[in-house]
Amino acid sequence: MSDVSNHMPTAELQALDAAHHMHPFSANADVAEKGVRVITRAKGVMLTDSEGNDILDGMSGLWNVNIGYGRNELADVAARQMRELPYYNTFFHTTHVPVIALAAKLAELAPENMNGVFFASGGSEANDTNIRMVRHYWELKNKPSKRIIISRKNAYHGSSIGSASLGGMAAMHAQGGLPIPDIHHIGQPDWWSEGGGKTPAQFGLERAQELEQAITDLGEDNIAAFIAEPVQGAGGVIVPPETYWPEIQRICDAHDILLIADEVITGFGRTGNWFGSETMGITPDIITFAKGVSSGYQPIGGSIVSDEVADVLGNSEFTHGYTYSGHPVAAAVALENLRIMEEENMLDHVRNVAGPHLREKWQALTDHPLVGQASIVGMMASIALTPHKDSRAAFASDPGTVGLVCRERSFANNLIMRHVGDRMVIAPPLVISPAEIDMLIERAWRTLDETHAHLKDNDMLKARS
Ligand SMILES: *Cc1c(COP(=O)(O)O)cnc(C)c1O
Repeated sequence: MSDVSNHMPTAELQALDAAHHMHPFSANADVAEKGVRVITRAKGVMLTDSEGNDILDGMSGLWNVNIGYGRNELADVAARQMRELPYYNTFFHTTHVPVIALAAKLAELAPENMNGVFFASGGSEANDTNIRMVRHYWELKNKPSKRIIISRKNAYHGSSIGSASLGGMAAMHAQGGLPIPDIHHIGQPDWWSEGGGKTPAQFGLERAQELEQAITDLGEDNIAAFIAEPVQGAGGVIVPPETYWPEIQRICDAHDILLIADEVITGFGRTGNWFGSETMGITPDIITFAKGVSSGYQPIGGSIVSDEVADVLGNSEFTHGYTYSGHPVAAAVALENLRIMEEENMLDHVRNVAGPHLREKWQALTDHPLVGQASIVGMMASIALTPHKDSRAAFASDPGTVGLVCRERSFANNLIMRHVGDRMVIAPPLVISPAEIDMLIERAWRTLDETHAHLKDNDMLKARS
């Protein structure tokens, strides 16, 4: 077996990476010029790079390593499953034990009326499933005109052509002819950037009522579903005003449309409950899951489906599925991940230990001159950077310029924070301890100080007029 500690020198790895590896969501020439950081191993909440730096992973990888790194139980389960049955499919009237056990476990954890699970390898595939599933559902109910799916601007639902169409990322729609037909986007509940002079409560209600307006405009008979993340993740950890979700639920109930909660980030403890739907008090018809279900140790995702939807679909062949729908190794690893989360009371840790501690320290960041708003739900949080707190002004520079400066300072301080425009976001592993949270905050504070100094030196503290 090769020894990971005995790898090539960093410069050689970087050169090979630049020559052959095409990075997602990156300009490769830019990546090559700056040189990549090579992560070699990880334990708990800490990553180690090829130069021996220890980096606090404030993002749980890509919002997914909820249980933290280095859990040998998951490696053992994967090895055992690979020896016993490395692969078999779930098409053509066949199944296997890990997928049975995981589906049953997910049905147990999900809201009471949700007991069907359709598997995929990740969130994008699952949302592609959802597009076909909700349209097929209405076909089976003899309402084939119900095809439009309403989503939101600045939503993230994945990167495949279907899921990216559901998403509301303008930069993604600008490439490759997206969105596909019959997807409609309404405004997002981002009060900080878009709320103007309204109170958060007023604004939340108004943004929810855009859904009702869209239903009126497009015709209830043409609408299949509304999809949304309980808390937007990739859009910048946008926590909606409290008035938002109850009104959305009311509208979905009043009109005959399905509610899809994309819980790829908010599922599996991220908000302090098994699902963000519980935290936000909503009752979806379909839940999209991925990421935290396996803590990223294996790629797996899918759709948890209400009994009503499952019953309707059950009477005909759904001509849809992936080679790796319910992969046995991924399923076994996810099951073990969930077992450990329960055994170690990780939801309780988020609710009563790490969550409150992070909340207190994170909200105190608003004392920093650059930080206008701090938002947090469970273990996902954001800060909005601004040159002028009272007016909630944006910087004069192009959106994201300041955020990128801040992210680069953060990396230099051995803290992984992500920037979304000029918001900084974190979503640390759920297992993070209070002492590690203190370390995270200390590095974040230093990063903000350095960013502030940089902006001052370069005359970048001006507000957009
Ligand atoms: C990451 C993400 C997806 C896409 O999941 P992949 O596994 O990357 O395909 C979908 N929805 C949300 C909310 C996500 O955060």
